[in-house]
Amino acid sequence: MRISVSNINVNRERLWGTLMDMGKIGALPNGGCNRAALSGDDKRGRDQFIAWCREAGCDIAFDAVGNVYARRPGRDAQRPAVATGSHLDTQPHGGKFDGIYGVLAGLEVIRALNDAKVETQAPIDVICWTNEEGVRFAPPLAGSLAFAGLVDVDTVHQSRTTDGSTVAEDLRDCGFLGDEKPGSRALDCFIEAHIEQGPILEARAKQIGVVTHIVGIRWSIVKLTGRDSHAGTTPMDKRRDALLGAAQMITALNQIARGEDEFARLTVGKMHISPNSGATIPGEATFVCDLRHPDPQVLDSLETRMHAAMKQIAAEQGLQIAIERSINIAPLKFARELIDTVRATANELHYSNIDMLSGAGHDAMNVARVVPTAMIFVPCKDGLSHNEAESATPEDLAAGAHTLLHALLSRAR
Ligand SMILES: [Zn+2]
Repeated sequence: MRISVSNINVNRERLWGTLMDMGKIGALPNGGCNRAALSGDDKRGRDQFIAWCREAGCDIAFDAVGNVYARRPGRDAQRPAVATGSHLDTQPHGGKFDGIYGVLAGLEVIRALNDAKVETQAPIDVICWTNEEGVRFAPPLAGSLAFAGLVDVDTVHQSRTTDGSTVAEDLRDCGFLGDEKPGSRALDCFIEAHIEQGPILEARAKQIGVVTHIVGIRWSIVKLTGRDSHAGTTPMDKRRDALLGAAQMITALNQIARGEDEFARLTVGKMHISPNSGATIPGEATFVCDLRHPDPQVLDSLETRMHAAMKQIAAEQGLQIAIERSINIAPLKFARELIDTVRATANELHYSNIDMLSGAGHDAMNVARVVPTAMIFVPCKDGLSHNEAESATPEDLAAGAHTLLHALLSRAR
């Protein structure tokens, strides 16, 4: 695929300055931000975004879960909008870029089109999704889930925030409660720009990640039952030690994941042991096994082998084992035509790029269920995210926005 690109470009300093201005809202002492969804600071951040969009000539609309749509009108109001965006809410010790970049890169695209006095056929929407991070209320990714019809509006409205209010009350108080039904707006496509939140682009010295998939996630909750017994009097060969079994299992699971391919991820990050006492051999251990891969068949195969390995270790250690499948999110493949558009645009603009996966969830994965969707990643320093020290260079951020601009233009002309 070839994309013809004009010489319209984004303004690197303006994009950077806008990001730094947004970073002053809910600012933390070490350079980060705390803007939990629908908190006072999230309202201030979104109000600032809306003011900037109005100055840039956009029409603003809200839907019933508070998603914000800033529209730059096209010549043909009947055409579905070409859309971009992300989220402005943050983790409690969040950075200045995760989510924010995708929203403000969209704003920079609109400003750049205004500077160049370019009219498009289709309207362009910059969307700020509600509550991606899920810090103050559930579910995380609420705005995009509702847009895709994966959660209903009432469920979001009735959700209680950590401050005791309901989301419906907060939406009303913030002035973000619209009457548009989420998902009712016709979109031609959705392209989300985001910092990578991982180390790959930096390590490989590439400016653009063309995201092809979001990995699937499966959780197994593993419960091991052995026997509580005295640490001093029980000989080593007479024990039924649930924690020892769990330790051997974690090692075996890691070997299976490492032996698969570069995309497999296996994490045991949470465990409960009982009685959790220094002088008693633990009779019970329960842990969460988080498995990720982009290919559903590989996920099946990994899961089968992991479960078999754990059962074998349990038998050897005289433990009972119960494995309960919990979370099961299917891997997501973005729209082929849009992936090609993003890659061809980056090539035409001479930005080094690679195809890559996202190991994290994003609003784009929900939108992708109902609209052709793709993502553009840019490098972030040390792959660090969900951290105040989260950082990216003005050059890389501008490269991502420039790619976004021409990818959107190729659809909107
Ligand atoms: Zn994000």
